[in-house]
Amino acid sequence: MNRILSENAVDFIDDSLLHSLIKNTKEDKARLRDIFDKSKAKQALSLEETAALLAIESPEGLEELYQTARDLKRSIYGNRIVLFAPLYIGNNCINNCTYCGFRSSLKDAVRKTLSDQELVAEVASLEREGHKRLILVYGEHPKYTPEFIASTVRTCYNVKVGKGEIRRVNINAAPMSVEGFRTVKESGIGTFQVFQETYHRETYAKYHPVNTVKGDYMWRLNAMDRAFEGGIDDMGIGALFGLYDWRYDVLGLISHAIHLQKTYGVGPHTISFPRIKPAFGLNLDLPYEVSDNQFKHLVATLRLSVPYTGLIMTARESAEIRDEVIEFGVSQIDAGTRLEIGGYQEKRELKQNLDREQFEVGDQRELDAVIRWLLNREFIPSFCTSCYRVGRTGEHFMEYAIPGFIGNFCTPNAMLTLTEYLEDYSSEETKQAGYKLIANELAKIKDPARREDISGKIEQIKRGKRDLLY
Ligand code: SAM
Ligand code: SF4
Repeated sequence: MNRILSENAVDFIDDSLLHSLIKNTKEDKARLRDIFDKSKAKQALSLEETAALLAIESPEGLEELYQTARDLKRSIYGNRIVLFAPLYIGNNCINNCTYCGFRSSLKDAVRKTLSDQELVAEVASLEREGHKRLILVYGEHPKYTPEFIASTVRTCYNVKVGKGEIRRVNINAAPMSVEGFRTVKESGIGTFQVFQETYHRETYAKYHPVNTVKGDYMWRLNAMDRAFEGGIDDMGIGALFGLYDWRYDVLGLISHAIHLQKTYGVGPHTISFPRIKPAFGLNLDLPYEVSDNQFKHLVATLRLSVPYTGLIMTARESAEIRDEVIEFGVSQIDAGTRLEIGGYQEKRELKQNLDREQFEVGDQRELDAVIRWLLNREFIPSFCTSCYRVGRTGEHFMEYAIPGFIGNFCTPNAMLTLTEYLEDYSSEETKQAGYKLIANELAKIKDPARREDISGKIEQIKRGKRDLLY
């Protein structure tokens, strides 16, 4: 494939600026006060302001950062957490990213691509557990063409088991040409994710050999621009934390978000911030490994810097870390995750087969247990796919991300999709906890007509109606 960049492609990473911001920004209480106020007014932060948050060292400064992140999360996203499942379609890969269990040099890794039949069986298993949202993950390989990816998306949407169905399919795959993105978009995808891994060019070259496609830094940095040209306005960016200085990659992510917002009027829909996990045959020297405290610091900083961008925390993190960090602004998590190709239909064992997986899963709880945990923490687990299905994406999504939006759409839709789960899939214990939380949420709604409307829909779901949405 000819690697043709988008029109007016730019390298928006200003390396010397990012390094100098990290080196020269010191904690400054008066300045922080202004930045926290700006955040509380739900305004996105500049690179300089983000650097000021990253420079916080004092315990009081950090506590205020965390508290502001908690408040912002509640006021922008309410108390719902959106749940999804990753589904690995194939681990053939021509690249050789030195941190990944799928890399081409691992001759002993078991390589597999799901057949149509196997894919249907995987999706059926996920539907039987109650999943409604998937992210399909692919290695980079000539087999995984845009047409192939589009056809796997269509297959997922066509699988219907009992009352189950998949209502949103997101993608995490190699960057494509504009035409390729267009083909995948036409299959009805939600978000297309590409993680830059690290925005620091020299480190990027160290982990991605130059003779591989992924070794082309600019082809990857420009991916979301081509996605936009190909009609995708729902973009997910991310960095793999542990490759380089965590503060540099936070500033890289913010530079990326600012670039997309400035150029297309649409910021990224989501940001992911995976930390490197052990993988098959992985023996890396990681001088920039990110500690749990740094991880908390970076998630809270992202929450303040891009208030309207969804933050995704995956099951790479342990249940304990997820419990702590979820309140600093995370809006989506995966649950019941199996990374083994074909792993959902096999009987679930806690033991992992690292030679068939990309990396080790940290949180191995089943979906029902994750839902119960969220309910006990007073979060509303949500399978909502409404915005994307009624066209509230891209620029329109930004318009809707204003006061009142959560109360009018997200919280009611979370309650409706949770009711579906409680009726169709849940354990008895989760069902009791779920209906208790729904009753509490309904009691918080001040407008009686609105409360009645939502209760009416909940009753309809209990009587067998499905897929009601606001
Ligand atoms: N092959 C495509 C690519 O590289 O963009 C998409 C799939 S790749 C399997 C998805 C992401 O997994 C990568 O972007 C990387 O951030 C992450 N990843 C790879 N190895 C990892 C590891 N050992 N621990 C945690 N995340 C990892
Ligand atoms: Fe292949 Fe993606 Fe793994 Fe790199 S991260 S080896 S491109 S699957």
